[in-house]
Order: sequence, then C-alpha cells, then structure tokens
Amino acid sequence: MSDNLYNIEPQEFAILERHEVGNCITYVLEPISKPTRCPDCQDTNFIQHGINQRKARDLNEFNKLVGIVIKGHRYRCKTCGKTWVDTYKSIDDAAKMTNRMRDYIIDQCLKTTFTNIKKELDISITAIEKIFAKYTEEMEGQRQIVAPRILGMDETMLNGIYRGMYVDVENRRIIDITSDRKLRTVRQWLALLPEKERTECATIDMWGSYKDALRMEMPNVFIVIDKFHVVKHLNEALDTIRKKYTATLTDKERRHIKGNRWLLLTNSEELEGMNAMRLQDILYSFPELEKPYVIKEEFRNIYLFSKTRAEAEQAFEQWKTTINDYPEYLAFADTVENWRTEIFNYFDFRFTNAVTESLNKVSKEISAQGRGYNFNVLRAKLLYRNEAAKPAKFAYHEPQRPSTGVMQDMTFTFMTPFFGKKKSVEVGAGTDIDVLSEQISEIVEIRQRLGRINRYANKFKYWDEPKGDK
Ligand SMILES: [Zn+2]
Repeated sequence: MSDNLYNIEPQEFAILERHEVGNCITYVLEPISKPTRCPDCQDTNFIQHGINQRKARDLNEFNKLVGIVIKGHRYRCKTCGKTWVDTYKSIDDAAKMTNRMRDYIIDQCLKTTFTNIKKELDISITAIEKIFAKYTEEMEGQRQIVAPRILGMDETMLNGIYRGMYVDVENRRIIDITSDRKLRTVRQWLALLPEKERTECATIDMWGSYKDALRMEMPNVFIVIDKFHVVKHLNEALDTIRKKYTATLTDKERRHIKGNRWLLLTNSEELEGMNAMRLQDILYSFPELEKPYVIKEEFRNIYLFSKTRAEAEQAFEQWKTTINDYPEYLAFADTVENWRTEIFNYFDFRFTNAVTESLNKVSKEISAQGRGYNFNVLRAKLLYRNEAAKPAKFAYHEPQRPSTGVMQDMTFTFMTPFFGKKKSVEVGAGTDIDVLSEQISEIVEIRQRLGRINRYANKFKYWDEPKGDK
C-alpha cells in the first residue's frame, strides 16, 4: 500500500489510478485517513454516504502537466445529522491546485515573468495574477508602516510609467511604491497612511499632484522641494545651452569638448586635481560656455551660502538679473517662481537630503531590471522579498505611573493595572536604501564583469571563425 502513496507532503493520498496521455498525467487519488468522530457532537455513530470528488492541478512531473482527481468521501452523523466531507492538509478547501503548486507559482512570480510561468504550467495569466494578489495582500497585512517625521515623495520609472515612491527620509527607508503618481492614487495612499500626525515635513520633487495631495490629506505638513531636484533642472538648462553651442562648432572643436560634458554639470567643489584643470581648460578654450557655467554655479551658491530664507530670496532676485541672454535659464527661473514657496521653504527647514541622490541611483537600477515584470511583482520584490526589506522597529514605554489623589482626609491611589511595557512603532517597515544600494553596486559590477567576459569571448569567437570556407 505504501508504495502506492501519492508523493506529496504530508502523505495523505493513495493512488488509485495513473493515466498518461501525451503531455499530461492524471492521478486518481483517495484519502488514506478516515474520520473517527463527528466533528460536531464527537459521536462515533456516523456513516459514509457517497463521494466528494475534487479536481485540481499539481506540480509538473518531468515537464509533464499533472492533474489530480481526489475521490474524497461524504459523511453524515446519525446522532446529530451533521454532514461533512474530507479535508486535506496539502490542498486548501475549494482550491483548484495543491498548496505546493501555489507556493511554487508565488516563488516563480518573483523570479520570472508571468508569461514564462504560463508556458511552464499551462495556467492562465489571470489565475497567476490572482494567486500573486492574494499573496501580496497577506504580506501587506504583516507590514506595519507609519507616517515618518520627514516624508520623501519621489518618482521612479518602471516599464515606461512614472510610479510614486514614498520614503522615510530620516531612517533612509523606502516605505512604498504606487502604480502611478496621479493625484487620485497619491491622495489615496496618503489617506491610508497610519499615524499621519507624526509627519512634520514632506520633501517632494516639482510634481503638482504631490503638493495637491498633501494639501488635501495632510494640510499641516510643511512642504519642501528637494534641493537635488532643483539643481537637476538647473543642470538640464545648462546642458541645453551647451548642446546649442556645440552644434555651431567644427568637428575638431566638438571632439575636444565631447566627453567633458559631465565636468560642466558636476558641482565645482567636487572636482579634484586633474578634473578641475580639465574644466578650466574647457572654459578657457570655449569662452562662450564660461558665463552659463558661472551662472549655474552662482545659483548653487544660493544653497551653499544663504543663511536665511530672506537672504536666499534676495540672492535669487540678484541672480535673475544675470540670465537675460539665456532663454533656458529664464525658463528655469519661471519654474522656481512657480514653486517659490516650497523651494525657499528649504531655508526654514533644512534636512539632510542625501537620501534623494542614493534613491535616484537605486531607482534607475530597479527600472533597468524591472523590464517586462508586472508592477505588483516589482513592488513585492522591493518591499518584502528582499534582504534590504526591514520590519518595523518598536519602542517600549514604561506604563503610566499610578496617579495619586487626595479626597477629604484620605490619600488613595488609583492603581493602573500593570500590563507590562507599552509597545509602539518607532520606525515603520521599509526597505533600507543603503543596503539596497550596496546590492545594486554588486549587481552592476557583476554585469560589467560579464560584459567584459562576453566581449573577450566574442573576440576569441571572431578569431576562431573558419576563414575562406563558404
Ligand atoms: Zn454528530
């Protein structure tokens, strides 16, 4: 009999028949254990009356699809009238596949595309999506997120769509990603964020929906445009000026400037040694670029040297008088005007925003790796199927001391029952940006190394090619 058990954990089925037709195997199974008592009245006086047949799918066997037919039983208690059917550990009630097949699918969702899973298991994309959505919902229930003191709102491009990204800036954790960053989506996300009163400041890029959603859902939060995003726009303006200018140059001149573009866009204080000299050489050889470069650096100086908001706003007014020859900078100044309040809020609420730059690098890589993947899968990979995904950290507080009151001549104490220390979330769940960034550096390095090996291999292939044979 035991030779004839179906291979599944726990072992609970005997094989009655096995059919193999083409690419499919069908097992007809029967449960090996029988009930001993009525589940309701615990009486042993029950009878079997009929068959409860179920059809389900199981994991492939040697690349062949497997179907199982379980011939379970139907029972009736003669004492209380209760009727019931066999239930199993390896397959949930009413499920159309075994639990191990479901777990395998969830696992594969995180490793490959839905289309590949469909091909391997011959199961519809809709069914795969449903399984994964259920898993996601379970995982979501376990993730304890809270509003951070400083909430960062940023974007990441996944499969050609801008997604909303939400960050605990102080603790350097990605809290969540939403499928897009439309007002409705962002607003709904904010509405559902627990403990909103914790948030004092939100740092955003210049995306209207972030500002509008914050105004609606968290009206007391101080909104600051991240310095990084302002400087990014500034650099884009300079780069457009450079492009326009280099288009007028001869090929020889253009070669000289080519490859040195990054020198113009790098923060001057970050250039060292040779690179600083190369920049000097470029500005000397192409004096038309010197003024726009200086204007860019002058704007950055507002951030570097202004001590107060008033000082910064005054410096900006002064800066605007120097840009009239450059429509690109005039357009940039308009952008600053449109976001004036939030941009200069930075001078009232200076937080370290180094996280935005790391995030930018991380999000580029997620975007590159995520091509073709379903959004929910990418989100799951980032938020809970990752070494960098951290659970919430808790803080424990002493219970409140018993309060003492005086009534007439009696002193008495209101005893607070002692339930141990009180637990509250200190840092909400999220994905550690630094750990993620480390992982990504490794992946990038491996990819570069593979690239080198491939180039090397191709070289050999080239030389090994038989010559002259046609
Ligand atoms: Zn009964």
